[in-house]
Amino acid sequence: MSLYGGVEAGGTRFTCAIGSSPDELKAEVSFATTTPQQTIDRAIAFFQQYQRRETLSAVGIGSFGPVDLNPSSPMFGYITNTPKPGWANTEFSGRISRALGVPVGFDTDVNAAALGEATWGAAKGLETFIYMTIGTGIGGGGMINSQLLHGLLHPEMGHLRLPHDFDQDPYPGACPFHGDCLEGLAAGPALLGRWGHRGEELPPDHPAWRLEAHYLALGLANLICTLSPQRIILGGGIMQQAALFQMVRRNVQQLLNKYVQVPAILERIDQYIVPAALGNRAGVLGAIALAKKTIQ
Ligand code: ZN
Repeated sequence: MSLYGGVEAGGTRFTCAIGSSPDELKAEVSFATTTPQQTIDRAIAFFQQYQRRETLSAVGIGSFGPVDLNPSSPMFGYITNTPKPGWANTEFSGRISRALGVPVGFDTDVNAAALGEATWGAAKGLETFIYMTIGTGIGGGGMINSQLLHGLLHPEMGHLRLPHDFDQDPYPGACPFHGDCLEGLAAGPALLGRWGHRGEELPPDHPAWRLEAHYLALGLANLICTLSPQRIILGGGIMQQAALFQMVRRNVQQLLNKYVQVPAILERIDQYIVPAALGNRAGVLGAIALAKKTIQ
């Protein structure tokens, strides 16, 4: 059996795992994201320790971004213009590949999670779907016609521009680039900034969730009209508020107003807008799926 390494590289934590599927994980470690040198070296050391005993066939990395995914670019495999201090223009996949002597698959954290869900989770058998994470930031990835979506750079679904009624919601938004884009209005820092409490401290009946569902549904309605996804998978810390799923589904139906005439939206929206089947393991398992894909 071939073994693969996976790295879920988040802005606050890295998770690394070794295995071949959700049921066959040999080792896993998670640690805080500090400096690039320290954090990437720690990931390398985890895999090297394992390589002394067994062979790794490839490693996959799903990274926070923005990242350069263009194989013909001199910055391929880098984290590029991130506002995260110390991490702008950090070489990533090349360093891992040279240190371990294996091929490395590299993609966004959300595309990796999407691949995980396509391989083992809620997107099995689908050709076109979206995976979004709603947490400290908002990111989206997915597949179009069974290909991970890259295009010009990679999708930045968190930065969709939305109608913003300042009478209903005077909060200006938290995105350093756009103010009141989707992420600026609906990610963790916006909840904290608007209500003075973190998402996990707000009870299910708090008005924060009605507004949150409204903004998320606006973003999803735009994505449904643009990409025609067969399913939308939502992960991330904010979606742990279970009441939110039903509110988002109802809002999406209202916003689309029966225009997209398909049973998935009109009758079975509970199976259309869904949580990640792999839960918070979608990222690291997706990175393992990415490693497998690299050598197939
Ligand atoms: Zn933005």
